[in-house]
Amino acid sequence: MIVIASSNGRIGIQRSMDILKAGGSAIDAVEAGIRLVEANPEDHTVGYSGFPNILGQVELDASIMDGRTLTSGAVGALQGYLYAITAARKVMDSLPHVFLVGEGAARFAAEIGLEPMDLLTDDVREIRQRRLLKSIPQEIFDKLDQEPELRRWVHLATDPERAWSTVNFIARDANGDIASGVSTSGWAWKYPGRLGDSPIIGAGNYADNRYGAAACTGMGEMAIRASTAHSIVFYMKMGLSVSEAGKRAMEDLNDLGGRYLDVMNFVAMDREGNHSGFTSMPGKSYIYQRDDMAEAVELERTFVKLNQRWQNPESE
Ligand code: ASP
Repeated sequence: MIVIASSNGRIGIQRSMDILKAGGSAIDAVEAGIRLVEANPEDHTVGYSGFPNILGQVELDASIMDGRTLTSGAVGALQGYLYAITAARKVMDSLPHVFLVGEGAARFAAEIGLEPMDLLTDDVREIRQRRLLKSIPQEIFDKLDQEPELRRWVHLATDPERAWSTVNFIARDANGDIASGVSTSGWAWKYPGRLGDSPIIGAGNYADNRYGAAACTGMGEMAIRASTAHSIVFYMKMGLSVSEAGKRAMEDLNDLGGRYLDVMNFVAMDREGNHSGFTSMPGKSYIYQRDDMAEAVELERTFVKLNQRWQNPESE
């Protein structure tokens, strides 16, 4: 039994392991671990107190995948409910669909009994105001929701230094079943309705018992365009080790053209529980815990240098 996670999953990984040790399934372990990260007010990249879109609305994206059956569930741009991963799980378990977004996702969250909640905290409200006012004149900021050219300001407010992060969990249970989950508040100050890779099966998240699983953080647009999580699992299907598969999937990102290329990170596990983490930013880590370990251990991710062509309009 093993759980691996992005390093911000530390608050939830013990809970995941406890579930596995008690005989629980990988999918239950993934959901429970991620819920603790979603509720963590210190983490501004997931769930409660996540960074909002440019209008100040916190929009959550999450997905979960069961490697036994290749069933999955996802929600995107969910507002007003904390446990996006549970909403995703319930989509998987109780609907003939895979993916709900926006108002439909919120309606579904209410239907399954999730508590409505204001996810925007005072400190994040202040950070947003400070950051946006560096670029946007006060009179426009005050009426941003009526701004006819909001796209202009999303462009200006883009802040790659602080915008990213997400939580990834992958678990393998006593039966050898594998599950993966991802949850995020996405790219800070994003255009309303923007979905990243996290809720898109194959982009930010993929699990298949027969080969392994992978989950991403970083610039979601890149993982969407390269189908990164699925590529990693596919490379394992073609016989590559988890390390080789990860390296190949990172290198694939160099084929992407366009001006906005930035950071990518992912964690991956093969069907035996061997794992690896990758990053395009040196010095990043991920965590793992096996059932014979008292606590999670941090490991450095393999660094793969990527073409980064981010253009910050403010420095143009
Ligand atoms: N991948 C997430 C997104 O693009 C953000 C992140 O992981 O940093 O929404």
